[in-house]
Amino acid sequence: MDTDGVFINIHSIIPSSGVNGPGSRMVVFFQGCSHNCPDCFNPDTHPFKDARLYLPEEIFKEHLQEDIKGITVSGGEPFHQAAGLFYLLKIAKEVYGLTTVVYTGFEYDKLTAIPQCRPGLGYIDVLIDGRFEKSKKEPTLLARGSTNQRFYFFTNRYKEGDFYMPAKAEIIIGRDGTITETGFSRVALTEPNENCKMQSVKRKA
Ligand code: SF4
Repeated sequence: MDTDGVFINIHSIIPSSGVNGPGSRMVVFFQGCSHNCPDCFNPDTHPFKDARLYLPEEIFKEHLQEDIKGITVSGGEPFHQAAGLFYLLKIAKEVYGLTTVVYTGFEYDKLTAIPQCRPGLGYIDVLIDGRFEKSKKEPTLLARGSTNQRFYFFTNRYKEGDFYMPAKAEIIIGRDGTITETGFSRVALTEPNENCKMQSVKRKA
């Protein structure tokens, strides 16, 4: 697929996760976020610096596993790289037949007012919008960190009940000893802190 030579600046990728949306999903964290939510779990994703630059199709070629049902895109702020997000979602749907879940710190009505964000919205099954607001934190929410964050089901592929997941958090130990903690609740591997809507911490064992 021609993607106009657009690169995406990626913080990290989890090839398979069971706690970032329905079923087994590849999770892609974009680099760069301007929202500055207090107690964000992913401060490493905030700087607008080059992390790893991928062509959209490279992400699938390098990381897609056979049992994956969909991709979840988080960050960072995916819509800061609206063109790259568009191609990533288009390839996910049209080439690989994957479902798509996207987290954004923007509110949906604000996204619709930004012309360059609209094409990507057309390839999303489920959008979860809004900044993580510490004062509205609610640990019992499905797949969200604070009560202001909302689900938008743009297709009939999923409903809210599909976001009941087998656990709130997951720890993945890579072949190189890297420990990745992901999900919606802190576990004991890291210092006490509170959750935001989507989390990914990596460290060497
Ligand atoms: S919670 Fe999400 S939107 Fe808010 S600062 Fe963190 S990465 Fe950005």
